[in-house]
Amino acid sequence: MSAVLIVGAGPTGLVLALWLRRFGVAVRLIDRASAPGTTSRALAVQARTLELYEQLSLQGAVLERGHQVPAINLWVAGRQRARLPFVAVSSTLTRYPFLEIFPQDEHEQLLSERLLQRGVSVERCTELIALKPGASGVQARLRRPDGSEECCEAPYVVGCDGARSRVREQLGLDFPGGTYRQVFYVADIEGRGAVFNGELHVDLDEADFLAVFPLAGSNRARLIGTVRDGCPAQAESLSFADVQGRALRSLELQVERVHWFSTYHVHHRVAAHFRSGRVFLAGDAAHIHSPAGGQGMNTGIGDAVNLAWKLAAVVKGTAGSALLDTYESERIAFAQRLVATTDRVFTFVTAAGRVADLVRTRLAPVVLPPLVRLGAVREFLFRTVSQIMVNYRGRPLSAGRAGRVRGGDRLPWVDSGGADNYEPLHAACWQVHVYGEAQAELAHWCAAQRMPLHGFTFTAAHAGAGLRAHALYLLRPDGYVALASPAQQPDLLVRYFAARGLRWNED
Ligand SMILES: Cc1cc2nc3c(=O)[nH]c(=O)nc-3n(C[C@H](O)[C@H](O)[C@H](O)COP(=O)(O)OP(=O)(O)OC[C@H]3O[C@@H](n4cnc5c(N)ncnc54)[C@H](O)[C@@H]3O)c2cc1C
Repeated sequence: MSAVLIVGAGPTGLVLALWLRRFGVAVRLIDRASAPGTTSRALAVQARTLELYEQLSLQGAVLERGHQVPAINLWVAGRQRARLPFVAVSSTLTRYPFLEIFPQDEHEQLLSERLLQRGVSVERCTELIALKPGASGVQARLRRPDGSEECCEAPYVVGCDGARSRVREQLGLDFPGGTYRQVFYVADIEGRGAVFNGELHVDLDEADFLAVFPLAGSNRARLIGTVRDGCPAQAESLSFADVQGRALRSLELQVERVHWFSTYHVHHRVAAHFRSGRVFLAGDAAHIHSPAGGQGMNTGIGDAVNLAWKLAAVVKGTAGSALLDTYESERIAFAQRLVATTDRVFTFVTAAGRVADLVRTRLAPVVLPPLVRLGAVREFLFRTVSQIMVNYRGRPLSAGRAGRVRGGDRLPWVDSGGADNYEPLHAACWQVHVYGEAQAELAHWCAAQRMPLHGFTFTAAHAGAGLRAHALYLLRPDGYVALASPAQQPDLLVRYFAARGLRWNED
């Protein structure tokens, strides 16, 4: 029997399955669709996702098959007002100081290939119909490809089944939020014009929004825009011809072919809970928001990574089931913040009325360019959008502070003094880092207890990243800091694990 039944083989379910297999946990992955999605949907793979992919050795293939966007250009009412190169602000923050573009259909294909190499194939045309959670397991009723029904039982079930999640519905969990009045469109096009320069272009106009993402090939791009309220046709019956005027006029695009066009409504919702007993929600099943910031898929992948090591620890008996509570407490807070932020930005960008128009088309062109030229503002924007700022400070698994780094933070990445501090994270296990000199007592304790200890020569780059010389940092299997302490006492580690009912290995 598989320890975990995963419902839905979108990016969230595929990454969860890969991670669980990485930890040696048996999984079953079902999807009601007969084949993987064929539309490109999510294009942006954020820097934090690439960092997390290092633990699965996946980042190389994503970088090879996708392509890198070096800068964002801001246009207001048809005029280019600012250019923000990523590398200038982020090359010391992450190994990935750019926006990676990799269409979702190709991304899912890559994840499925890797999963197959780990012995798991997606069971297609297999639909979850109903769930019955019990104390020792969850009963699931499935419809098989031939139409017959199957009852199966799994210790844990994870609903990665998208915005209309059957799992969420079966748990009776609310999905509060709302739906924007605007209709979005998405179009993959071939064409010519100044914006086909491999960079991202965002144009603000009167109550209107248009983003141009470069696709592979010098003359292909994805347009994401809002349909003007005054557009005559019903959203469902619109074609690219109905909406193209704005793009052609403002950004001087010449469109030669339209490969894909679709319209959709955007919702902003977060489920009331991400866990109910032995059942979890992850990805779009748990939270949805505007796709404009390129966050949705990346957040689902972040959920999957957060949940995977915890489920694996509980299945293998190195943690009690209380560890599973920390999944919701860590991820729901981030999802709520993200939905609120994308809502604020989207509301500003699309607010109707004369004052809003004036702010966007008169004030923004004056205020925004000098503002985004400030290094600190650009760094903040990069940290936010790339998700490297996501942290679990103040949560039950996070403790202490050393330098500017607190328990719950992403370990700052530093490649200096001949050593890359993300290298040991590939092991995806609990480990201790010391930047400076590890004291003999700590070294003996770690050796005796088979706790990996990694020492790094302390350099100015470590200080710049906020790490403190000779301090102790305990890292979780997902690379977040669990405990940060200026003192190197092994007793701190013993107490950290004991207080949370955790063990760092399977001995
Ligand atoms: C046009 C568009 C553009 C977007 N652009 C971006 C972007 O640039 N960046 C970004 O990060 N995000 C973007 N998104 C959002 C992104 O596509 C989603 O966040 C992402 O697909 C969520 O992944 P998921 O695996 O959680 O859910 P999904 O991809 O929705 O996958 C759910 C899976 O569950 C299966 N399923 C559903 N019900 C059942 C059932 N009862 N039994 C079995 N299987 C079931 C479905 O068949 C599906 O395969 C975009 C979305 C759209 C629509």
